[in-house]
Amino acid sequence: MTDTATLYIVPTPIGNLDDMSTRAIDILKGVSWIAAEDTRHSARLLQHFSIATRTLSLHEHNEDKRTAMLCERLKGGESVALISDAGTPLISDPGFILVRRCREQGIPVSALPGPCAAITALSASGLPTDKFIFEGFLPVKMQARETALAELVDRRFTSVFYEAPRRIVDTVNAIHKVLGDRAIVVAKELTKTFETYVSGSAQDVLDYLESDASHQKGEFVVMIGPATVSEQDIPGDAMALLQTLCEHVPLKKAAAIVASHYGLKKNALYQAGLESKG
Ligand code: SAM
Repeated sequence: MTDTATLYIVPTPIGNLDDMSTRAIDILKGVSWIAAEDTRHSARLLQHFSIATRTLSLHEHNEDKRTAMLCERLKGGESVALISDAGTPLISDPGFILVRRCREQGIPVSALPGPCAAITALSASGLPTDKFIFEGFLPVKMQARETALAELVDRRFTSVFYEAPRRIVDTVNAIHKVLGDRAIVVAKELTKTFETYVSGSAQDVLDYLESDASHQKGEFVVMIGPATVSEQDIPGDAMALLQTLCEHVPLKKAAAIVASHYGLKKNALYQAGLESKG
């Protein structure tokens, strides 16, 4: 910990208490205040690690008011740690207003790395991780959810969502309706006893969810793979020319030549070339 009063963003476990870092415990013990999304919920965690620091609540309904008070305390020399019910604060959790105000007022903000369901799920999903988007929760209303999913039709990178158990079946149904056979992975109960990854098409995941009522319980991360440009979308002649040209010129150039010859999209040919190389 530094001597300067600082707002610390402290991730907490998403299931397995052993994922609490020693640094997170030290910071929570060392600050003057812990701002918690739900003080009663966090009391169990704090007690488990013998952390006796004073807590106060900071949630979506009082964040504005609490922020003013916490900024005053920070300016008065008291350090504050922000925690949420589980995982990394601000990631589909409160804290944005507080961090933004601290930044505006020149109050130091320091984040500890730690548990986050989205990153944990993605890293073990088997879907591409070189580029991805975290979308938080999909809209609750079905029409809005389908509209949001329609944005993924041409998306060439992995999309990561959080989902509540009561909506998981409807959401996977909507994915099936809007995106068809796209590869998806659903990660459930991460870091807990019944941690499960289910991958395949939306229909495969639906079969799993509907095969047993217990499969719909727990916490879920839904990941949707990139749209693929399959070779079938490109005429055979164009694909053959692309492959021949690739033996002599870089893929980018080959894609440009074939695109102008056949009146196709350069990017689609480039992607198809990448996919055919495996
Ligand atoms: N800030 C948290 C984080 O860093 O992951 C996320 C908070 S958000 C309110 C809660 C959602 O995260 C859950 O509805 C679920 O989608 C996901 N989640 C949290 N813990 C999880 C777990 N152990 N396994 C799977 N998903 C989890």
